[in-house]
Amino acid sequence: MRKIVIAGNWKMFKTQAETQDFLRGFLPHLDETPEEREVLLCPPFTDLNILSQSLHGSRVQLGAQNVHWEDSGAYTGEIAAQMLTEIGVRYVIVGHSERRQFFGETDETVNLRLKAAQKHGLTPVLCVGETKQQRDAGQTESLITTQLDKDLVNVDQDNLVIAYEPIWAIGTGDTCEAKEANRVIGLIRSQLKNTNVSIQYGGSVKPNNIDEIMAQPEIDGVLVGGASLEPESFARIVNYQ
Ligand code: PGA
Repeated sequence: MRKIVIAGNWKMFKTQAETQDFLRGFLPHLDETPEEREVLLCPPFTDLNILSQSLHGSRVQLGAQNVHWEDSGAYTGEIAAQMLTEIGVRYVIVGHSERRQFFGETDETVNLRLKAAQKHGLTPVLCVGETKQQRDAGQTESLITTQLDKDLVNVDQDNLVIAYEPIWAIGTGDTCEAKEANRVIGLIRSQLKNTNVSIQYGGSVKPNNIDEIMAQPEIDGVLVGGASLEPESFARIVNYQ
């Protein structure tokens, strides 16, 4: 059985005070959430510690938004895996398109980060996906194949989540059709050694499209940006029908 993983990616949003407000509104809704769904919050680094304390004993897991590949060193602005595991972080997003686009992340550094995360027992959430230009040029399949080939060298597929995030759908309100997301995710699965890897869809997931997305047979969860910032909307997503 593939695990269902519903993750909120808060990006660069929420102070600690705002995080506490969010939890007050969000946590009560989890009483209705089927037990087998993994619920994950990926806040900015500065919120991890307070979330770790506030979520102690709750079913919500914690994820970071990035991790460096070295255990320590002179890497200003970076965070090592043990700094995350020490405070109870279990997952980490790696290779988000915003990191690839704005911060020079490459398939090579993505691969290093994936391996470092796994070495320390974190489960990486690897993000892949095409730009609008690549989709229009009919390059979706080849781009994703290349990303998977390069990113997954020597990566353990038994401790991995993948998120298919078409870049043109992120933060635009222009969701990928559920059936098309299902098709691409099937294609991703066909390229894996372990076909039981949970594969999420991400890109403008909202309360009004979550049910259709989660009804697709290949889709094992969602990675949610904007709609994870508001307790009611993220609760509706987590408690999809
Ligand atoms: P969005 O972001 O839900 O705001 O489109 C998704 C993501 O970037 O993970």
